[in-house]
Amino acid sequence: MLTPTEFVDDVMTIVQQRDPGEPEFHQAVREIAESITPVIERNPEFRRAQIFERIIEPERLIVFRVPWVDDAGRIHVNRGYRVQFNSAIGPYKGGLRFHPSVNLSIIKFLGFEQIFKNALTTTPIGGGKGGSDFDPKGKSDLEVMRFCQSFMSELYQHIGPDTDVPAGDIGVGAREVGYLYGQYKRLANCFVGVLTGKSIDWGGSQVRTEATGYGLVYFVTHLLQARGRDWQGLRVIISGSGNVAIYAAERAARLGATIVAMSDSGGYIVDSAGIKLDTVKRIKEVERRRICEYVDEHPSAEYHEGPHGIWSLPCDVALPSATQNELDGDAARQLVENNCVAVGEGANMPCTPEAVHVFAENGVNFGPAKAANAGGVATSALEMTQNSTRESWTFEQVDARLRNIMRSIYNQCLQAADEYGQPGDLVAGANIASFLKVGRSMLAQGVV
Ligand code: NDP
Repeated sequence: MLTPTEFVDDVMTIVQQRDPGEPEFHQAVREIAESITPVIERNPEFRRAQIFERIIEPERLIVFRVPWVDDAGRIHVNRGYRVQFNSAIGPYKGGLRFHPSVNLSIIKFLGFEQIFKNALTTTPIGGGKGGSDFDPKGKSDLEVMRFCQSFMSELYQHIGPDTDVPAGDIGVGAREVGYLYGQYKRLANCFVGVLTGKSIDWGGSQVRTEATGYGLVYFVTHLLQARGRDWQGLRVIISGSGNVAIYAAERAARLGATIVAMSDSGGYIVDSAGIKLDTVKRIKEVERRRICEYVDEHPSAEYHEGPHGIWSLPCDVALPSATQNELDGDAARQLVENNCVAVGEGANMPCTPEAVHVFAENGVNFGPAKAANAGGVATSALEMTQNSTRESWTFEQVDARLRNIMRSIYNQCLQAADEYGQPGDLVAGANIASFLKVGRSMLAQGVV
């Protein structure tokens, strides 16, 4: 029988030898492997069936060329990815990211995390992720359309409403989903729920736009309740100013919090009277401009170059909602010194392992991404249900389901942490609860 350390070392040796040069993927695998050692010890059938060794290998990996023509007639070539990681509990499900930093390591870490996140949502969806190193920033609508059409011309043969259902992520919002869907429909000649995040007019779900941010706030509400607190009067810092950040800000503000700072990749704004979200929405969602322009309209606010300084500001709650590894150990120590009581991960893996350790050591209530930001994909699963039954639920119906799902995720994490001797540790709880569900399903389905 292997000791826990030997188990983690063995697993890391496999991924490091088989997948060299994929640091983000290695980081995600290590984080889960370390948490699930008690499960492996208590359930020897998982070890015998090599469940974890199978989970870390994607079921299918698709890498493809995406050529497209810009407005000046120049030809560009990007690389497209879709990793179909695990279908033990349902069709592959996970977003598409269009960003110049995208590479195989990032797509695999996101797809790997997605397996476990999706398992927590209580809906029947497997894990996948995809994207491209294409940068939509600064491109015209027509250029984005031509890129999306080229991307989908390859992807369409690998996806389907019962096979793999992509959605948005960084750089893929309503505009991109529209262009991708249009091309899918044209090639496949059928109107089915093959993408989520669609417009309400043609098959989208109410609340999907808001779901990740709202769900994050619903999850953090439980963290605050555990300390006998609510959002009223709290100062909140949110990194990013994209889909997740904007709707987390909207929900927290409605619950009585003051959003004091937000950012984009260029820098951060501070408005101690509370950020005016209508301005941020217009600048970022409609005009696709930079967040620094906020201070032109609100001169009492400040702009600081570079996004990282945002964590040095005093706050009660921090919601990192921009990108991976954006909040490190030093930033975590600053938040602790400033008496921050709760941190909820809106982005995927935004806190480094050292930062998560600092929060745990200092009693900061911490909501890990795969639990705290699962509201988006959960609502995507509700969109799939509505598409397959040809129903449209109201905003209130979907929002009520989202709240219930976030409560259920929180309770699953608490319960699993308790059962495996780590009470209150939601990082361990999220990893254990989701691994048990996927692992049991894989055991039942044999060696496939
Ligand atoms: P968007 O593309 O809508 O927004 C991303 C935001 O983050 C932009 O404001 C961008 O700024 C900013 N940003 C990027 N890098 C940095 C940085 N280093 N520092 C500060 N800000 C930065 O993406 P989403 O909001 O959809 O996604 C954000 C995160 O949430 C990602 O990790 C994603 O995987 C995760 N997530 C998203 C879900 C969804 O439903 N959308 C679901 C679950 C997780 P700029 O405009 O300058 O690029």
